[in-house]
Amino acid sequence: MIENNRENMSRGSGKRDAILDLQSMFQTTVQREVSTEGVGLHTGVFGHVKLVPAPADTGIVFRRSDLDNFQIEASGRNVARVSYATSLMKQGVLLSTTEHLLAAIYSSGLDNVYIDIDAIEVPILDGSAEPFLRLLDEAGVRKLRRRRRYLKITKPVEVIEADRRMGIYPCDEFHVQCYVDFPHPLVGAQQIEMTVQPESFRNLLARARTFCFERDIEPLRSMGLIRGGSLENAIVLTDDGVLNGPLRFLDEFGRHKALDLIGDLALVGLPLLGRVEAYKAGHALHTQLVSLVLSDSSAWTITTEDERPAEVLVRAEAPAAFI
Ligand SMILES: [Zn+2]
Repeated sequence: MIENNRENMSRGSGKRDAILDLQSMFQTTVQREVSTEGVGLHTGVFGHVKLVPAPADTGIVFRRSDLDNFQIEASGRNVARVSYATSLMKQGVLLSTTEHLLAAIYSSGLDNVYIDIDAIEVPILDGSAEPFLRLLDEAGVRKLRRRRRYLKITKPVEVIEADRRMGIYPCDEFHVQCYVDFPHPLVGAQQIEMTVQPESFRNLLARARTFCFERDIEPLRSMGLIRGGSLENAIVLTDDGVLNGPLRFLDEFGRHKALDLIGDLALVGLPLLGRVEAYKAGHALHTQLVSLVLSDSSAWTITTEDERPAEVLVRAEAPAAFI
C-alpha cells in the first residue's frame, strides 16, 4: 500500500491531547515479558531479544544476557562508533543497530524497560520498526507510581558538518523535521515533519524500512557490513528503481530517516520536549547532537507534567488504576 506524504504530519492539540498528556504524567514499563528473534543486519549474527518490566527511573537499559546480563544504558554517554548504524559500547562490550527498536520504544512513551539480548546486534527483522511495535503491543503497558520526567530544551544546540546540519530548539512538545536528499529518481528531496506521539509514529513512520543502494552492497560487504542483509529486510535501490518493490510509501526513505532520527534521540535518556531539525543528517550527526546536549546542562531543564497549567490538569480524569 502506497500512501501519500504531507497529510496528517502534524497533529493539533485538543481535549484528547490534554487527556493523553495527563495520562503521560506517570512513568510506564511493559506489563509482561515478550520476546522476538532474528538476524543482525550488519553482523549476520542470530539473536534473541526479550523486553522485561523495569522499575521507575530505570530508563531503557540493554542487558547482554550472553555476558552475565552486562548492562548498557541507552544513553548518549555509551555511544560507540557510528556509521551505518548506531552502536553502544560500555567497558568494551558492544551492542549494534539499536535505532529501530529504540525508535519504537521511545515513540510509544515507554520510560523503563530492560532489553535482554544474547547477541552483539539487535535483530533487523523486516528493516522497519513495525515488528517492535507489535512486540510492544503484545507486552502491554504498566503505569508506575512515579511522575514522568522530561528533558525540556531551553536554548538552541546545533551541529554543522559541511552541508549537513542539525539543531534542537525550545518547544512544548516533541517535534521533528527531517530533510533528506539522495540523487536517485525515486528519492530526491523528501521532508517529514511531525509531532512525535505513539499514534503519529505508528501511522507515519513505523512501517518505513531501511534501504541501501545496490552499487554499495559489495563495498559494504567487503567492509564486513550488511552480512545479514537480504531482500527481506532492506529496500535495495538500483540505479533507476527498486530491486524488491513495492514500496510501502512513496517517500519511504525520508520516513525511515525520521525513524532513525527518533531512535537516536532516545539516547538523551528521557522523553524530549524540543523541536529537532535534521538536514541531510545521519547517525553520526544525530549522536553528536545528543552528546552535545547531554554535555551542556545550561541547554535544558528536567521537568514533570504537573508544571503545566492547572486548567489542563483538572479537565481529564486520571485512570483509577494508578491513583
Ligand atoms: Zn534505520
